[in-house]
Amino acid sequence: MSDLPQLSAERVHELDRAHVFHSWSAQAQIDPLPIASASGVRFTDYDGREFLDFSSQLVNVNIGYQHPRLVAAIQEQVARMATLAPGFAYDMRSEAARMIAERAPGDLDHVFFTNGGAEANENALRMARVHTGRHKVLAAYRSYHGATAGAIALTGDPRRWASEPGMPGVVRYWGPHLYRSAFHASTPQEECERALQHLRDLVAVEGPSTIAAIILESVVGTNGVLVPPDGYLAGVREICDEHGIVMIADEVMSGFARCGEWFAIQRWGVTPDLITFAKGVNSGYVPLGGVVVSQRIRDTFADRPYPGGLTYQGHPLACASAVASMRIFEDEGVIEHSRRVGEEVIGPELARIAERHPSVGEIRGMATFWALELVRDPSTREPLVPYNATGDAAKPMAALAAACKERGLWPFVHMNRTHVVPPCVISDEDARTGLAILDEALEVADSFV
Ligand code: PLP
Repeated sequence: MSDLPQLSAERVHELDRAHVFHSWSAQAQIDPLPIASASGVRFTDYDGREFLDFSSQLVNVNIGYQHPRLVAAIQEQVARMATLAPGFAYDMRSEAARMIAERAPGDLDHVFFTNGGAEANENALRMARVHTGRHKVLAAYRSYHGATAGAIALTGDPRRWASEPGMPGVVRYWGPHLYRSAFHASTPQEECERALQHLRDLVAVEGPSTIAAIILESVVGTNGVLVPPDGYLAGVREICDEHGIVMIADEVMSGFARCGEWFAIQRWGVTPDLITFAKGVNSGYVPLGGVVVSQRIRDTFADRPYPGGLTYQGHPLACASAVASMRIFEDEGVIEHSRRVGEEVIGPELARIAERHPSVGEIRGMATFWALELVRDPSTREPLVPYNATGDAAKPMAALAAACKERGLWPFVHMNRTHVVPPCVISDEDARTGLAILDEALEVADSFV
């Protein structure tokens, strides 16, 4: 027996309302569902209602819930060594770093561990600034990089508004997104060329000698699963090379099987200077993130101290779980599975769904990373809800989410989109079940068209 009390659902809810301060929420307006247990691709509330998870929580439970090998690895590590400060060397951190470095592209062979994605981006930017001796950073409008001071300043979407003015030196750019092209392009190739020209123009007018980094999400996540056109990431790489700018690929959401690769950028054969990761590295069983660092940038800090650190970075439990998670990915073919289920099931089913529903303006994605963009008017592409920080709480989206939940599907709804982001291990059958529910629930969205 442990010291942990057994609480009823009512008590969990009561204490939550009395004492928990929630993120991204108006405290009095939310009604969080008490969850009792989870397994595989489903979780269950205290009344025994089961939900098929099409959200992977915050797109992080890539391996599914309560994977026995992952649970066992954490138990083994906690019994052996529950905590250690980062200044020591220790087995599971060494091994996690080796495994990540070997799976990362090119010469990215050192890992700076953090506790999550925002801290990873903070440190990537710090590395880029010290490495180049420059201060500016180009960051996309359609992006989310985290909620700490620097990361929210890098973020381009409305979540940054309440934290402005942010960090000096952030310059915004438009990344490619053909459906809502900032460049009035009509083909992927045109969108790609114009987006790259726009970046080149920005670099020229801002002054290349002032720009430390360009940061991007290899595949943009919560801003709508925006898959870059072929040639875009290679084009950004070229611009960075030409001007000595550090290329930071934020793979916090897109990495670790979500896009059917270890890192999404590998699909385009591009090697950035820094990759940030978190979420899928260990499916959030213990908080973990990090920066994978190129040899060149690592060498900047060979004889000068790196000016940053975190008490819990590279925590033994987190590193042990990352090691186990990567081994499971390989033994169970999780990356290949994610790619295949996307190609053979999710993509084709979503294409059929899109044809049936006038509210679906576009579907986009790959592997287990998809979005349906919902519109009020398919001819004008007017979004189903306005573009602002609370779009997902607006009536049509809240009604869609409720319709999914009533039918046992937990959706990922954000602004005018619903994302299809189940655990990467979802079976074909479960994927079809969830998509059939989504198909039915979308009639609610259609009623607003
Ligand atoms: N970067 C991206 C692309 C993300 O999607 C997120 C979180 O959703 C973050 C960074 C921030 O990660 P964390 O919430 O672990 O700080």
